[in-house]
Amino acid sequence: MGQQKPIKLLTTLLRNGTIPHALLLSGIDGIGKQLTAMTFAMACNCLDLETGYLCEDENSLHTAQNRYAGTNPCGSCKSCRKVQSGNHPDIIIVEPSGPYIKIGQIRALCHTLAMKPLEARLRVVLISDSQAMNSAAGNALLKVLEEPPDRTILMLTARHPSDLFPTILSRCHHIRFNPISRESIVTILIEKEGVHPDDAEIISTMANGSLSKALSMIGLPKKTNWIHQRNWLINEIDSLSLKPVGSLLAFAARLSKNKAMLPEFLEMIQSYLRDLVVCKYCPEKIINRDLQSKIQNRSQKMTTASLLSQISMVQSAQKDMRTNANLRLTLEVLVMRLAAV
Ligand SMILES: [Zn+2]
Repeated sequence: MGQQKPIKLLTTLLRNGTIPHALLLSGIDGIGKQLTAMTFAMACNCLDLETGYLCEDENSLHTAQNRYAGTNPCGSCKSCRKVQSGNHPDIIIVEPSGPYIKIGQIRALCHTLAMKPLEARLRVVLISDSQAMNSAAGNALLKVLEEPPDRTILMLTARHPSDLFPTILSRCHHIRFNPISRESIVTILIEKEGVHPDDAEIISTMANGSLSKALSMIGLPKKTNWIHQRNWLINEIDSLSLKPVGSLLAFAARLSKNKAMLPEFLEMIQSYLRDLVVCKYCPEKIINRDLQSKIQNRSQKMTTASLLSQISMVQSAQKDMRTNANLRLTLEVLVMRLAAV
């Protein structure tokens, strides 16, 4: 899935029996860090790989090596199925509850780790979004990292290594995940999800290397179709200057209600305005290619200067939102300003 490099690194560590006690998998959201960690947990415990990495018998180890070198765990033995269904007692996932990973969660983990693994050859603890640990939780985890428990690997994920406390970072073997290539995302969207090739092109461009973002844009797993929403939004934006103030405020209110989608909405508006500018100079470089004739039409009616000033209005709204300004007010101001250009 576009992450052959980190997977190869992990399998090499596994094969050589040189797995560090703590690993940090870093990279943007939606590029397979968690999936890779779970596959790794399966590989560590797959019963079909009878010998596993701990085996000392050379011949059997050789068999295991071939298996690891090929790809992966069998996916169908009792152990693999338990990991897949989230029912393996020794494969532990810690995730933020709300915005943080709390000290209580790490204390509970320490309590479990003080005991021996129940059935795993190698217990795997995944601490997902580990940048969400507050300092108390981080300190508690540090004790575990300083005295690693028996037959246990800790796998932390984070967007960026610098998001972690340096004391934790220094105890982790770091594996970087790169964004997934646009071409791979196009292929997955077309071949696995049955997305129309034109839509796959636009979505892969907007997804910036994140497969989960691309999937959410086609409405997976939530039932919101990105293309439909973008089309609705663009039509609204195009007609702003014709609308009375009451309608503008209602539009702003509607945007502010959908808080989760809001960053996405503003990105859509920005990419559309960008296309209107780009279309004047190199029409072949627009992102929303399925809307080419609409964009050409609209672009002719707007000056570059007014489009650029609209883009900077959207950017300043994005900035205000990041600093927790009053959301509704920020959007009202943005919509009115866009309408006045
Ligand atoms: Zn298996």
